[in-house]
Amino acid sequence: MTDHTCASNTEGQLPRVVVAGLASCFGCQLQITNQEQYLTDILGRFDLQYWQLASSDPMPEDFDIVIIEGAVTTEEALEQVKALREVADTVITIGACANTGGIPGIAAAGYASRASEVYDSVPEACGTMIEPCAVSDVIAVDFQVPCCPIDFYEFAQILSAALMGSNRARRSTTMCNECKRQENPCFYPQGEICLGLVTSGGCMARCPSLGRPCMGCRGLSPKANLDSARESVASYNLSVEEFDRKLSIFNQTNAVLSAKDEASDD
Ligand code: SF4
Ligand code: SF4
Repeated sequence: MTDHTCASNTEGQLPRVVVAGLASCFGCQLQITNQEQYLTDILGRFDLQYWQLASSDPMPEDFDIVIIEGAVTTEEALEQVKALREVADTVITIGACANTGGIPGIAAAGYASRASEVYDSVPEACGTMIEPCAVSDVIAVDFQVPCCPIDFYEFAQILSAALMGSNRARRSTTMCNECKRQENPCFYPQGEICLGLVTSGGCMARCPSLGRPCMGCRGLSPKANLDSARESVASYNLSVEEFDRKLSIFNQTNAVLSAKDEASDD
């Protein structure tokens, strides 16, 4: 993560912001439009020059901050994110698709053989498709807004940090301590797998607090101890294979998990 001073750009203007969408359901961008009454609180602090979802104007050639939603799944998208990185001082990725590969990233498993499982010959439209990956796998990213979909307030907080030139580090703790602070009963003694054991905290264990196990959409915590987590899963007589399958839903392209898969293939 680099230091940025985006409160104004080099010409003393408000930071110029563009929003781009790659392979995604656009749900994270919708989260932002759905909160327009709060969006006005931060709108005056930047100059929104392009928003793919909300405007038909073309993207300008020059800007200061780019917000990217979605995974990289085509050669065109790969070139696009590289070009965005060249221009922008600050890159913010929003949502699981952009941050971990998310739902499009599921296709990364056995990617090379997928098209031929469905088609006799690979359709022309698939010609430019590449193995799905997160934006941070191909360019440097300065700020990440996690979750599927994002939480608007977390987005506003991280955008504010970017606008003020903060070098705020990514949260590294796992979900369980936040879950305990919410006084939630743990799912494991009830015979259910929960991915909060290894998932980055920061949402105050929203799903467990609503009675649902964590699905890992915030991504694998840098402090996750996967071996220890698998031991815990087995100690409750639950399936470690099922734990790994659930973990791969939002983390298929995570190098830590890929390394394990390669090792098990040997
Ligand atoms: S992270 Fe989830 S809500 Fe956001 S674009 Fe991807 S699939 Fe949609
Ligand atoms: S329910 Fe999930 S997040 Fe909460 S303590 Fe148990 S494993 Fe951790």
